[in-house]
Amino acid sequence: MSEHLDEGTAPCSECGAVLPAGGDCWDRVHELLEIEARLLPGIDDVETGMRAHYFAIATYQLQHPSRLTTAAVAQLRDGVRRMLASDPPPIDHLRRQVRGFAEGPRRVTRRASAGDRAHVPHWPTRWTMTATDVIGRPDAEYADTVGDWARRTLDDLDGLGP
Ligand SMILES: [Zn+2]
Repeated sequence: MSEHLDEGTAPCSECGAVLPAGGDCWDRVHELLEIEARLLPGIDDVETGMRAHYFAIATYQLQHPSRLTTAAVAQLRDGVRRMLASDPPPIDHLRRQVRGFAEGPRRVTRRASAGDRAHVPHWPTRWTMTATDVIGRPDAEYADTVGDWARRTLDDLDGLGP
Protein backbone atom coordinates (compact mmCIF):
# COMPACT_ATOMS: atom_id res chain seq x y z
CA MET A 1 0.00 0.00 0.00
CA SER A 2 1.33 3.40 -1.02
CA GLU A 3 0.76 6.31 1.30
CA HIS A 4 -0.24 8.33 -1.70
CA LEU A 5 -3.99 8.20 -2.21
CA ASP A 6 -5.07 8.52 -5.81
CA GLU A 7 -8.51 9.71 -6.78
CA GLY A 8 -10.78 6.71 -6.49
CA THR A 9 -8.81 5.18 -3.63
CA ALA A 10 -8.97 7.98 -1.08
CA PRO A 11 -11.48 7.54 1.73
CA CYS A 12 -14.50 9.79 2.14
CA SER A 13 -13.82 12.20 5.00
CA GLU A 14 -17.28 11.49 6.43
CA CYS A 15 -18.02 7.79 6.00
CA GLY A 16 -14.50 6.45 5.48
CA ALA A 17 -15.51 4.45 2.41
CA VAL A 18 -13.42 4.49 -0.75
CA LEU A 19 -14.56 7.35 -2.96
CA PRO A 20 -15.98 6.64 -6.41
CA ALA A 21 -13.87 7.54 -9.46
CA GLY A 22 -15.34 11.04 -9.64
CA GLY A 23 -14.22 11.74 -6.07
CA ASP A 24 -17.69 12.61 -4.77
CA CYS A 25 -19.16 10.17 -2.28
CA TRP A 26 -22.65 11.50 -3.09
CA ASP A 27 -22.38 9.48 -6.35
CA ARG A 28 -22.96 6.42 -4.14
CA VAL A 29 -26.52 7.61 -3.59
CA HIS A 30 -27.10 7.39 -7.32
CA GLU A 31 -25.64 3.87 -7.33
CA LEU A 32 -28.08 2.92 -4.55
CA LEU A 33 -30.94 4.44 -6.54
CA GLU A 34 -29.86 2.48 -9.61
CA ILE A 35 -30.13 -0.74 -7.61
CA GLU A 36 -33.59 0.34 -6.47
CA ALA A 37 -34.62 1.14 -10.04
CA ARG A 38 -33.64 -2.40 -11.07
CA LEU A 39 -35.10 -4.10 -8.06
CA LEU A 40 -38.08 -2.32 -6.59
CA PRO A 41 -40.50 -2.62 -9.55
CA GLY A 42 -40.30 -6.39 -9.01
CA ILE A 43 -41.19 -6.16 -5.33
CA ASP A 44 -44.93 -6.70 -4.86
CA ASP A 45 -44.90 -5.43 -1.30
CA VAL A 46 -44.83 -1.64 -1.70
CA GLU A 47 -44.06 -1.08 1.96
CA THR A 48 -40.92 -3.21 1.75
CA GLY A 49 -39.72 -1.13 -1.18
CA MET A 50 -40.48 2.16 0.53
CA ARG A 51 -38.77 1.03 3.71
CA ALA A 52 -35.67 -0.02 1.75
CA HIS A 53 -35.53 3.38 0.06
CA TYR A 54 -35.95 5.19 3.36
CA PHE A 55 -33.23 3.16 5.07
CA ALA A 56 -30.81 3.68 2.18
CA ILE A 57 -31.21 7.44 1.91
CA ALA A 58 -31.59 8.19 5.61
CA THR A 59 -28.62 6.02 6.57
CA TYR A 60 -26.41 7.55 3.90
CA GLN A 61 -27.29 10.99 5.22
CA LEU A 62 -26.65 10.00 8.83
CA GLN A 63 -23.12 9.04 7.77
CA HIS A 64 -22.70 12.43 6.03
CA PRO A 65 -24.00 15.00 8.53
CA SER A 66 -21.99 17.90 7.10
CA ARG A 67 -24.80 18.30 4.56
CA LEU A 68 -27.50 18.54 7.22
CA THR A 69 -28.59 20.90 9.94
CA THR A 70 -28.30 19.72 13.54
CA ALA A 71 -32.09 19.45 13.72
CA ALA A 72 -32.23 17.38 10.52
CA VAL A 73 -29.56 15.01 11.84
CA ALA A 74 -31.53 14.48 15.05
CA GLN A 75 -34.78 14.00 13.12
CA LEU A 76 -33.22 11.43 10.80
CA ARG A 77 -31.65 9.52 13.65
CA ASP A 78 -34.99 9.37 15.46
CA GLY A 79 -36.83 8.45 12.25
CA VAL A 80 -34.52 5.54 11.50
CA ARG A 81 -34.85 4.31 15.06
CA ARG A 82 -38.65 4.33 14.77
CA MET A 83 -38.56 2.55 11.42
CA LEU A 84 -36.36 -0.18 12.91
CA ALA A 85 -38.67 -0.70 15.89
CA SER A 86 -40.92 -3.74 16.12
CA ASP A 87 -43.96 -1.51 15.45
CA PRO A 88 -42.76 0.92 12.74
CA PRO A 89 -45.01 3.76 11.56
CA PRO A 90 -47.34 2.94 8.63
CA ILE A 91 -46.52 3.44 4.99
CA ASP A 92 -48.30 6.80 4.67
CA HIS A 93 -46.10 8.24 7.37
CA LEU A 94 -43.09 6.73 5.67
CA ARG A 95 -43.99 8.30 2.33
CA ARG A 96 -44.05 11.77 3.84
CA GLN A 97 -40.62 11.23 5.35
CA VAL A 98 -39.14 9.77 2.20
CA ARG A 99 -40.53 12.41 -0.16
CA GLY A 100 -37.80 14.77 -1.26
CA PHE A 101 -34.89 12.68 -0.01
CA ALA A 102 -34.14 11.18 -3.42
CA GLU A 103 -33.31 14.57 -4.88
CA GLY A 104 -30.99 15.37 -2.02
CA PRO A 105 -31.57 17.07 1.31
CA ARG A 106 -32.41 20.46 -0.10
CA ARG A 107 -34.73 21.65 2.61
CA VAL A 108 -32.41 20.51 5.36
CA THR A 109 -29.13 21.48 3.73
CA ARG A 110 -26.72 23.42 5.85
CA ARG A 111 -24.58 26.18 4.39
CA ALA A 112 -21.08 25.02 5.19
CA SER A 113 -17.93 23.97 3.45
CA ALA A 114 -17.72 20.35 2.34
CA GLY A 115 -17.10 17.94 5.17
CA ASP A 116 -17.54 20.59 7.89
CA ARG A 117 -18.81 18.88 11.02
CA ALA A 118 -18.47 21.67 13.55
CA HIS A 119 -22.13 21.13 14.48
CA VAL A 120 -21.61 17.41 15.26
CA PRO A 121 -18.01 17.31 16.51
CA HIS A 122 -18.12 13.77 17.91
CA TRP A 123 -19.78 12.12 14.91
CA PRO A 124 -17.94 9.00 13.65
CA THR A 125 -15.88 9.02 10.46
CA ARG A 126 -15.52 5.24 10.46
CA TRP A 127 -18.58 3.00 10.34
CA THR A 128 -19.22 -0.72 10.69
CA MET A 129 -20.90 -0.62 7.29
CA THR A 130 -21.01 1.96 4.47
CA ALA A 131 -22.80 2.48 1.17
CA THR A 132 -20.02 0.63 -0.66
CA ASP A 133 -20.80 -2.50 1.41
CA VAL A 134 -24.46 -2.26 0.36
CA ILE A 135 -23.56 -1.72 -3.30
CA GLY A 136 -21.22 -4.70 -3.21
CA ARG A 137 -23.97 -7.11 -2.16
CA PRO A 138 -26.34 -8.92 -4.55
CA ASP A 139 -29.44 -6.97 -5.59
CA ALA A 140 -31.66 -9.69 -4.18
CA GLU A 141 -30.35 -8.94 -0.67
CA TYR A 142 -30.82 -5.18 -0.98
CA ALA A 143 -33.90 -4.73 1.20
CA ASP A 144 -32.37 -6.75 4.02
CA THR A 145 -28.95 -5.18 3.55
CA VAL A 146 -30.13 -1.57 3.85
CA GLY A 147 -32.04 -2.47 7.03
CA ASP A 148 -28.86 -4.01 8.39
CA TRP A 149 -26.92 -0.90 7.35
CA ALA A 150 -29.41 1.35 9.17
CA ARG A 151 -29.25 -0.77 12.34
CA ARG A 152 -25.45 -0.94 12.40
CA THR A 153 -25.21 2.81 11.81
CA LEU A 154 -27.52 3.53 14.75
CA ASP A 155 -25.44 1.14 16.85
CA ASP A 156 -22.27 3.02 15.86
CA LEU A 157 -23.93 6.30 16.87
CA ASP A 158 -25.38 4.92 20.08
CA GLY A 159 -21.88 3.89 21.08
CA LEU A 160 -21.20 7.62 21.39
CA GLY A 161 -24.11 8.26 23.73
CA PRO A 162 -27.24 10.32 22.94
ZN1 LIG B 1 -18.97 9.08 2.27
